[in-house]
Amino acid sequence: MKAQLKPRLDLFDRLELRKVIPLVTPYVIYIDPCDQCNFQCKFCPTGDRELMKKIPGRQHGPMEFEKFKKLIKAVNEFEEKVKVIRLYKDGEPLLNPRLADMISFAKEANCCEKIDTTTNASLLSPALSRSLIEAGLDRINISVEGINAAQYQDFSGIKLDYDKFVKNIAYFYEHRQGCEMNIKINGDILTEEQTKHFFKTFGDITDGIFIEHAIDYWPTFKQEKVEINQDIGILGHQAKEVKVCPYVFYEMAINSDGSYSMCRFDWKRVLILGRDMGIYASPKKIWNSIILWSFQQRFLRLERDSFFYCANCGEMKQGLTEDLDEFAEELLEKM
Ligand code: SF4
Repeated sequence: MKAQLKPRLDLFDRLELRKVIPLVTPYVIYIDPCDQCNFQCKFCPTGDRELMKKIPGRQHGPMEFEKFKKLIKAVNEFEEKVKVIRLYKDGEPLLNPRLADMISFAKEANCCEKIDTTTNASLLSPALSRSLIEAGLDRINISVEGINAAQYQDFSGIKLDYDKFVKNIAYFYEHRQGCEMNIKINGDILTEEQTKHFFKTFGDITDGIFIEHAIDYWPTFKQEKVEINQDIGILGHQAKEVKVCPYVFYEMAINSDGSYSMCRFDWKRVLILGRDMGIYASPKKIWNSIILWSFQQRFLRLERDSFFYCANCGEMKQGLTEDLDEFAEELLEKM
């Protein structure tokens, strides 16, 4: 196998967060190109279309290109360059017909060090691959949901031409130039034989490959159709709960309708910090806002459980988070 066994998660050489916060510029900005998805995966609220209809602010669809351009221009107001613009949040990014234009625009604006995306790759035709690569995409993370068409039908509710899907991924790999590729699968749905098959199928057509574990990713979304081992983290590590959410100190998230969420897991739109562009909201204004600052303070006072949504955040137990708990007092003073 040519690929390196490594997770898609960008670990940033693990800068010690406690030494660098408060940050004048977030490291990562998630911008959602589209909050809808063509899959209906069992673990994901976005795939539950009836549920989505009941959530105000969801079902927006693709982010308008003009809105994206305004956002990117505003990202340049930060004192420093953002490390990553991540074109992904709730939905399937390839459903936005202007995705390649978004990448080109952000590249030309020179507002970040890297641009990446995470996709189910079902729409990754050779033509689209070429345009994403030519636009300057730096990294693509592909989430594989099964090792054959039957598994896709069962897990994601989608009829997939599996051979074509694999061929399209191979095409991207062959033409990827400087774009890094990572592929991962939820290993909990695979037998040992199927795991071998996964590595055999994708191990030579990606740079990085990994088996992840299903976790309670989406706060308050009941994972009734997927079995979750609460003791194991996403990368197979021992789960350990933290009180301080580190993400609010280095990431920000912008939904496809232009609203700002406190974090990328806000599928339910209950952590909205601001709406759209204008005199009251821009990435920099939101980053420096009293509302975000007061949330950060409450996390540092170890009050995560006092917000119902955050109290139910599986990422704080099974994700790969920095543990800031023992430095909370020191950081509170520093903030
Ligand atoms: S605790 Fe979870 S839901 Fe709350 S802000 Fe952090 S990542 Fe988001």
